[in-house]
Amino acid sequence: MIVILNSHPSQERVHELVNQLTNLGLSTHLSEGQEATIIGLIGDTSRVDMDAIRANDIVKDVMRVTEPYKAVNRKFHPDDSIFPIAGRQVGEGFFQVIAGPCSVESEEQIISVAQDVKKSGASFLRGGAFKPRTSPYAFQGLKAEGLELLLEAKRATGLPIVTELMNINHLEAFRDVDVIQVGARNMQNFEMLRELGHCDKPILLKRGLANTLEEFLMSAEYIVSGGNERVILCERGIRTFETMTRNTLDIAAIPLIKRISHLPVIVDPSHATGLPFLVEPLAKAAIAAGADGLMVEVHNNPKAALCDGAQSITPAQFDHLMGEVTRRTSFEGKRLGCEAE
Ligand code: PEP
Ligand code: MN
Repeated sequence: MIVILNSHPSQERVHELVNQLTNLGLSTHLSEGQEATIIGLIGDTSRVDMDAIRANDIVKDVMRVTEPYKAVNRKFHPDDSIFPIAGRQVGEGFFQVIAGPCSVESEEQIISVAQDVKKSGASFLRGGAFKPRTSPYAFQGLKAEGLELLLEAKRATGLPIVTELMNINHLEAFRDVDVIQVGARNMQNFEMLRELGHCDKPILLKRGLANTLEEFLMSAEYIVSGGNERVILCERGIRTFETMTRNTLDIAAIPLIKRISHLPVIVDPSHATGLPFLVEPLAKAAIAAGADGLMVEVHNNPKAALCDGAQSITPAQFDHLMGEVTRRTSFEGKRLGCEAE
């Protein structure tokens, strides 16, 4: 349920109303936007007397929110969520590019890719230290050593780092990581999501391989309802009957999610198709569809990569891609790589 307030109510009256609603056993979520102030109510609202709330002279209207997702719902928070991460603005109107190898493999590899992608204009460095692999015999990542190497690359280049958390017990080791990635395979690891709702790190939540958009938003709801509002959604392709591409990029998901949720949405064109020559066209499509950023796999020697080399682009291809991204984000009126004021 949402309570829409008249414009510019006094803080004191808003506070009184929030207390009154909390006393009904509901949790409240206050959104003070440019257009409207809204109090979102979460909990059992079935016995709430809507007319009694409407009678309050600072209240304009009271409405039920029928969707199961509340805190991530645009009805709860009409303005786009825009937040800083390591000094970079993330959200509508801005565009951030995350680039780097699928996995951290060695000091030389991660430092050289980090320097290259930085030079081409990436704002964040990605790299997996803990890798979720289908085969238990495949390279599983350098784990703690991989995290150390990522931090070294961060020190060397100044790029904030994004890396995947596979086990909530590793959270302590992620203290210097700038963005925690929850991979497609963990999108519905509900205990992990709940814990991440209580941590102070931004979360990059990837859509599951075969999850609906409602399920995707419900996973984000686990995090945001716990109090962690810095969640970025990442469309990375879903499984379909098509076999020529690794997955099928759901382009419609971008404008659709942005219509029903206030959270930023970025696109991963690398996992979406598994084919390097499709990375650039899909990145362009993502920008045209309104994405707030990209996550791209870049490897200095894709043929020798220990993971996802077949879909990785080279630093030179990434540099070309960034030229296109620069032109197209400017056309869309988005500020590329913008730092927070
Ligand atoms: C990755 O980003 O390397 C990754 C494993 O992605 P996903 O979880 O989307 O498959
Ligand atoms: Mn990968």
